[in-house]
Amino acid sequence: MATIMIVEDEQAIALLLKYNLERAGYQTITVAHGNRVISAVEKHLPSLILLDWMLPEISGLELCKIIRNNPELKNIPIIMLTAKGQEEDKVVGLSAGADDYVTKPFSVPELLARIKTNLRRVSTTMAPTKKEYCFQDIVLNMVEKKVFRGKNYVRIGPTEFRILQLLIAHPRQVFSRQDLLREIWGNNVYVEMRTIDVHIRRLRKSLNEFGPDFIRTIRATGYSIDDHEIEEDDGESKQLENED
Ligand code: CA
Repeated sequence: MATIMIVEDEQAIALLLKYNLERAGYQTITVAHGNRVISAVEKHLPSLILLDWMLPEISGLELCKIIRNNPELKNIPIIMLTAKGQEEDKVVGLSAGADDYVTKPFSVPELLARIKTNLRRVSTTMAPTKKEYCFQDIVLNMVEKKVFRGKNYVRIGPTEFRILQLLIAHPRQVFSRQDLLREIWGNNVYVEMRTIDVHIRRLRKSLNEFGPDFIRTIRATGYSIDDHEIEEDDGESKQLENED
């Protein structure tokens, strides 16, 4: 789920945005003070920032420049919100590094559409270029987001899909639980290590309905996808994994 940071000092507008974004299925973080924005962005690493231009303490424009000059943060899409409707302001906003520009009063459906477009743009630039990943009889169709084993359609959840994609894109490479947490959930979300084991278990269950188990549990290390025979570790580690 994408997290949107709302930077807005006018409480009524901030609440309106929060309500509508959460209704549209986003998580939100609201920041009202300009001088708290950068630390909040660093802490939460939002998927997108809605940034009010007119803020006390520091302007949205300055914040935009700071974010764009920070290598860790510079790829986060920023939509500037402003009461200024002048064409030259738009140019200034965009040249400061904003990705998009919405003028107040804005229509909620239009803002939601802009958010969606900007999020999609980021996910396509980061998306893998491959249309299909294969490992033995397992096929991940990245276009339809479907998994097959031979001719069988394997029903798996979105998190299991992403885990499988990561493993299958790097066959035989071992991913630690920390690697998986970072790659699948990102640094900004608190997820218990055990959650990973639960998803791996689900993934195994779905895949193994149609063929042999290629997911390896490497004791005290992590997981990989591998078709080599590994006998010694599997029994114990599967047992560990099944503890609840
Ligand atoms: Ca304002």
